[in-house]
Amino acid sequence: MNVHDSEKIAGILSGHGYEASSEVKDADMIVINTCSIRQKAEQKFLSELGRLKHFKDRNPNLKIAVAGCIAQLKGNDIFKRFPYVDFVFGPSNIDTLDRWINSRAQNTEHRTQIIDDRQHKTALQDNPEYHLKSIPSKREGQVRAWVSIMYGCDNFCSYCVVPYTRGREKSRPLDDVVNEVKRIAEQGFKEITLLGQNVNSYGNNLHKNIEFTDLLKAIHEIDGIERIRFVTSHPKDLSERLIAAMRDLPKMCEHMHLPLQAGSDKVLSLMNRGYTYKEYKGKVDALRASIPHIAITTDIITGFPGEADDDFKATLKALKEIEYDGIFAFKYSKRPDTSALSMPGHIEEKVKSHRLSQVLDLQSAITLRKNREVEGRTLEVLVEGQSDTDKDKLTGRTELCERAPSFPQSFEPALEVSNRGRE
Ligand code: SAH
Ligand code: SF4
Repeated sequence: MNVHDSEKIAGILSGHGYEASSEVKDADMIVINTCSIRQKAEQKFLSELGRLKHFKDRNPNLKIAVAGCIAQLKGNDIFKRFPYVDFVFGPSNIDTLDRWINSRAQNTEHRTQIIDDRQHKTALQDNPEYHLKSIPSKREGQVRAWVSIMYGCDNFCSYCVVPYTRGREKSRPLDDVVNEVKRIAEQGFKEITLLGQNVNSYGNNLHKNIEFTDLLKAIHEIDGIERIRFVTSHPKDLSERLIAAMRDLPKMCEHMHLPLQAGSDKVLSLMNRGYTYKEYKGKVDALRASIPHIAITTDIITGFPGEADDDFKATLKALKEIEYDGIFAFKYSKRPDTSALSMPGHIEEKVKSHRLSQVLDLQSAITLRKNREVEGRTLEVLVEGQSDTDKDKLTGRTELCERAPSFPQSFEPALEVSNRGRE
């Protein structure tokens, strides 16, 4: 989501004639887009911003803006510690960057040469119409595109800062999303990933009868788009309709990212996740029953407050039982405003780390075994470009696995297509 927000920031800047500079020292404008999901990201940001003072000292006309969730959380405090920052704007105010640049341009006309209008500006207020705005994006690459379908989150998982930084959940109107995808298809993009903190509740603030599967069907009609993905699905809201749509729409990649977070019901309840492990496993079984080769990935948190050894063992057991294709795992990190912060039973750092390494070791073995299953096979790959690690190699994703022969009678088109899942 943050990567795509950066593409929107770049879209606004390029509309004003800015081009990306390859060296920081050559920049006239630096925008740092921040993440506050865990503390580590915050620490990285603070040291990065500290380094920028030197550039501002050398070039007083340089403008520095701080965007994203840390901007939203820290607001005016950023100016106290870093007075050389000019503009601070939150993730629901990306559109204001445009106005800020325009207002600076007007100031500049009046002041002839000098642009050292060292006025600290912020845009952190509630922006109730943000989801109705079409913000231009300057997208990376030419094959895969991110598309926001909703902003914010109403779930208030007890560890998570997102509802406080990105505000209440709001879906973009269906036509706005469809028109954006049409434009993307015209530009030659082949794969889109729909973005939202909980895509399953898409449409809650829209016309009563619109839901996520309606959006998927509308996008599926668009010529030129060959693969459709989405993140993230909240397990509590994963519906049979969505599973059926994934099964029935041939362009849907057969991959579901379904964050479990923990295997213990006690911990899941403390996290306010809204499901038990049994309910979650029931959804995984339903997905696999309908789409047998589906790739399933997840997020895991280790060392949540109150997580006893037995609770942690339940997470290991869940990983063994479900056999994910891949996971993202994190140590619990204390976040401001969240209810977990004041819960009893915070876990020592070294215990959290030890648990994290146990999770990663276990999953590495499972992922390796799953990857070996495709060794030696010839698969269709949508090439995305040069590999980051080796410029002589191309990187892309496979079109993986045959459809199982036992598809429901009512479902015909999918018998002719193959499954799209793993990277
Ligand atoms: N909306 C998505 C996730 C967004 S955040 C969802 O609910 O699935 C991505 C992941 O970061 C979460 O799934 C969680 O595993 C992790 N995360 C969020 N807050 C965290 C915290 N305080 N400490 C550790 N991990 C956290
Ligand atoms: Fe955070 Fe939970 Fe919302 Fe995901 S669903 S963004 S983890 S509050």
